[in-house]
Amino acid sequence: MAPRDVDYLVIGGGLAGANCARWLREEGGLEHSILLVGREPDRPYNRPPLSKGYLQGKESKEEVLFRPDEWWDDQRIDVLSRTSVMKLDPRAKVATLSDKEEISFGSALLATGSNVRRLRVDGCDLDGIHYLRAFGNSEAIRADAEQHGRAVLIGGSYIGCEVAASLTAAHGVDCEIVMLEDVTFEPLFGKEVGGFFQGVLEEHGIKVHGGEELERFEGDGERVTKVVTKSGLEIECDFVVVGIGVTPEVTLAKAAGLEIGERGGVRCNAGLETSHPTIYAAGDICEYDSPVHGRPTRIEHWDVAFNQGKTAAFNMLGRGLEHNVVPYFFSDLADWASMEYVGPGSGDTVIRGSLEDGEFAAFYLDDGQVKAALSVGRSDDLDAARRFISEKPKVDGAALADLGTDLDSL
Ligand SMILES: Cc1cc2nc3c(=O)[nH]c(=O)nc-3n(C[C@H](O)[C@H](O)[C@H](O)COP(=O)(O)OP(=O)(O)OC[C@H]3O[C@@H](n4cnc5c(N)ncnc54)[C@H](O)[C@@H]3O)c2cc1C
Repeated sequence: MAPRDVDYLVIGGGLAGANCARWLREEGGLEHSILLVGREPDRPYNRPPLSKGYLQGKESKEEVLFRPDEWWDDQRIDVLSRTSVMKLDPRAKVATLSDKEEISFGSALLATGSNVRRLRVDGCDLDGIHYLRAFGNSEAIRADAEQHGRAVLIGGSYIGCEVAASLTAAHGVDCEIVMLEDVTFEPLFGKEVGGFFQGVLEEHGIKVHGGEELERFEGDGERVTKVVTKSGLEIECDFVVVGIGVTPEVTLAKAAGLEIGERGGVRCNAGLETSHPTIYAAGDICEYDSPVHGRPTRIEHWDVAFNQGKTAAFNMLGRGLEHNVVPYFFSDLADWASMEYVGPGSGDTVIRGSLEDGEFAAFYLDDGQVKAALSVGRSDDLDAARRFISEKPKVDGAALADLGTDLDSL
C-alpha cells in the first residue's frame, strides 16, 4: 500500500506536540495536512494537575485536557491516539506506525517526552507502589488515597513534595518523605530555600527523612506494607509513590540515527532542528543550543515544552527563529505555598524579602551574574530576573537583597 502523505507529522501527543500542531494550523493556514500520533489513550493533556488539582479531586479530566476533543476536528488536525511511531526514516521522510501504516511527511516534530526512572530493589513489584506520569497513574494513587491512610513518598523533589501535599490536604493521608538529600529540593534550590519548603510540609504534619537511601520494600505477599532504608529506618505504610526523576524517551530518535547530546536528549540547534534537516524536536527530549545559556540545554518543564512546541512550529513553517525564551517553572504544595522559577542555574543564594514571612525571591549568583531566580509571592521580581539572565549584567548582591532597591535600576 502506498504511504499516506501528510505535510506535517507530530510524533508524541504531549504538550510540546499539541502546541506545535496548534501553531502549525494557526500560523500555517488551513491548506496543510497535520497528523499527530500519540501512544496514550487520551488526547493531549496537561500533566501538572496530575500531582495537584486532579489528584486532589478539584479538577476534572475535561479541565486538564489541552483542548476539548472537538477542537481537534474543528482545526482539521488528525489525531491518532493509542498509536506509536515504531520507526522513523529521516532520509526517506517516512514513519512506520504500530498498526503498520506508513506515513510520508514533509517535515516532522519529535516530542516523545520522558519516562519515569524506576527503582530496582527487593519488593519493587509489590502492589501499592506507584509512579506518576499519566492520567491512569494519578487515578490509581487517588483510589489508594481514598481507601488507605498512610503513604510514603520516595524522593524529595517536585513529585514527592507535591504529591505529599496533595494527599495530606485533600485526602487526609499521613505522609512521610524518604530522600537522599538532607532537605527537600536541595539540589535545585540549595539548603536555605529547600529548607523553607520542607518547613511548610512539616508544619502540615508531613514527616521528612533526609539523608536516607532506600534498601527495600516489604509486603504481605501481595501489597507493600513497609519501606526500609539502608540506615535501618522502617516505616509502615499502605501505599508508596516514587518520584525519583525521569529520562528522555529517545529510543525512536536513536534508532533513526539522529544525534544524541551530552544531556541525553535529541541534539538540536538554536532553532530546535535536529541533526537531520526538516526534523525538529521539542519538550523534555530537546537538547538545544540555548542562546540564553550559551550551552546545550535540556529542561523538563511544562512551560518549556509549550514554548518550544511553538518555536518548532514556526520553524517548520520556515521562519528561522532562535528559541531564546528564558525557561520558567512553577510548582504548588497544595494551597500552602506556590513557587515560580526562572533558570536553570546555580550559585550563591541572595534572598530578597523574608523566608519567615513566606514572601521572598531567591537569586542565584555566579561571579556577580544572576543565573536563576525563584519566587514565593514575589512574581514581579522574576521579570527583572529574566532580564538579568538574558542580558547578563554584573549585579550587586547587597543591592538585590535590599527591598528598597528598584530592580529595574540595576
Ligand atoms: C505529575 C507531573 C507534574 C508536573 N508538574 C509540573 C509543574 O508543576 N510545572 C512544570 O513546569 N512542569 C511540570 N511537569 C513536567 C511537564 O509536565 C513536562 O515537562 C511536560 O509534560 C513535557 O512535555 P512533552 O510534550 O515534552 O512530553 P510528554 O508530556 O512526556 O509527552 C510525550 C508523549 O509522547 C508519547 N510518545 C513517546 N514515544 C512515542 C512514540 N514512539 N510514538 C508515539 N507517541 C510517543 C508519550 O506516550 C507521551 O504521551 C510535571 C510532570 C508530571 C508527570
